[in-house]
Amino acid sequence: MSARVRIIGAGLAGSEAAWQCARRGVEVELFEMRPVRSTPAHQTADFAELVCSNSLKSDSENTAPWLLKEEMRRAGSRLLEIARECAVPAGHALAVDRVAFAAKVTEAVSREGRITVRREEVTSVEEDGPEVTVIATGPLTSEALAEEIARLSVSLPTEESEAERASRPLLNGHDSAPSSPHLYFYDSISPIVEADSIDMSRVYMAARYDKGSADYINCPMTAEEYGRFYDALLAAQSVEERDWEKLNYFESCLPIEEIARRGRDTLRFGPMKPVGLKDPRTGRMPYAVVQLRQENLRADSYNLVGFQNHLKFGEQARVLRLIPGLENARFLRYGQIHRNTYINGPALLRETLQMKAHPRVLFAGQICGVEGYVESIATGLMAGMHAAALALGNELVPPPRASAFGSLTHYVTHADAKNFQPANITFDLLPALEKKIRDRKERHRLQCEAALKEFDGWMDRAGAAGTP
Ligand SMILES: Cc1cc2nc3c(=O)[nH]c(=O)nc-3n(C[C@H](O)[C@H](O)[C@H](O)COP(=O)(O)OP(=O)(O)OC[C@H]3O[C@@H](n4cnc5c(N)ncnc54)[C@H](O)[C@@H]3O)c2cc1C
Repeated sequence: MSARVRIIGAGLAGSEAAWQCARRGVEVELFEMRPVRSTPAHQTADFAELVCSNSLKSDSENTAPWLLKEEMRRAGSRLLEIARECAVPAGHALAVDRVAFAAKVTEAVSREGRITVRREEVTSVEEDGPEVTVIATGPLTSEALAEEIARLSVSLPTEESEAERASRPLLNGHDSAPSSPHLYFYDSISPIVEADSIDMSRVYMAARYDKGSADYINCPMTAEEYGRFYDALLAAQSVEERDWEKLNYFESCLPIEEIARRGRDTLRFGPMKPVGLKDPRTGRMPYAVVQLRQENLRADSYNLVGFQNHLKFGEQARVLRLIPGLENARFLRYGQIHRNTYINGPALLRETLQMKAHPRVLFAGQICGVEGYVESIATGLMAGMHAAALALGNELVPPPRASAFGSLTHYVTHADAKNFQPANITFDLLPALEKKIRDRKERHRLQCEAALKEFDGWMDRAGAAGTP
């Protein structure tokens, strides 16, 4: 067995994975295609370039992003350490000087004796050879490698039906998964709200035409409420579209503001259709309805069905709070539509981020189905640990479910494969406490305490913190 790991992509996940392998005594070949070939978003040849904001999210104790960073600190994340060295004032958040951060990561990784850097585009993966491979090529994976990933993913049996295949979105007019149903090329995300922020006195539970159990929350609107909502939606500001990101929206997956632009009543024949949703309190069908569906695996949260949109986050909060029952909604995630290459983790991956069909191939970063800088680094850390264990012939121990690490990988590998969408760390990914605690702050504090206790035990067993 060779103690050698090939890592493709020296972004956030790949750089951390390479470091973790090296510190465990494993030789690494790290492939980065920039500057030979760039992506539409990166501007430099540096590793770990932050392509948009410079924030690594909240550093306030007992928040979910803090918990994830605290676990990374305990597991010896090199990139987090560098981020702290490059921190700039940002209130309760950890924000970095992006130029200094990328330069320091590049220097640290390049100087590490066990890491050999190759500046070239990888277009093929030897899935069943002796070498271990970590694919960490991010949301803008090069086309040739995406084709190769599609080939690796297609060998698994798929349960996707023709109808599901037909409803998959298009990217620039092409099928978003040209040769594999388990690879996607863009996110079409509906907003998610916390369950206890919904005013249940204004909504009702029902299934359309009473078919199946009444699992949906329905927010009914009068003609007047609909009119107010419609006008606000049309007036709301959209996120600026970059040229390379221009999407030819698939008809069944249009952003709500685009549907609204097609006519005053078009939404009432689409995602806000009231037909078959009689309000039991009035016995009548409302003028329009917004449906909320409970998120699988995300405790205590609901998504707004069919409400993918391209509006600025602040605008979304303002407009969506006009929906009856959502006046005080707390948003766990806002709607988005953006370019993002990612695999269907629940169909393809084990909790150790290894492919089920090709265990010597691992995925890390945004491409494995997480969202965000910190989540990408965290999965890079885990993939690096597991890849090193594989190369050394050691046992692979997945992180505990109660931890933020374990909750992220649990989500990536156990979410509903049919509707899989990448997630960032939030409390609704963590398991609920056995005892119901009403006070949110106290509940979160206890969840963090439980997570870190399990995490420390795992590190002792998995040797996550130690170098050989
Ligand atoms: C436009 C955009 C803006 C974003 N803004 C934010 C934000 O503000 N905050 C946030 O938290 N998250 C943001 N994200 C999401 C995500 O956190 C980042 O994309 C993050 O960089 C993902 O880390 P990664 O390691 O998975 O991928 P990356 O950091 O993109 O690293 C992947 C690397 O692989 C290389 N590569 C690709 N294909 C090949 C190949 N075939 N061979 C060799 N190398 C290859 C790339 O050049 C790149 O260096 C954004 C994403 C995009 C696309």
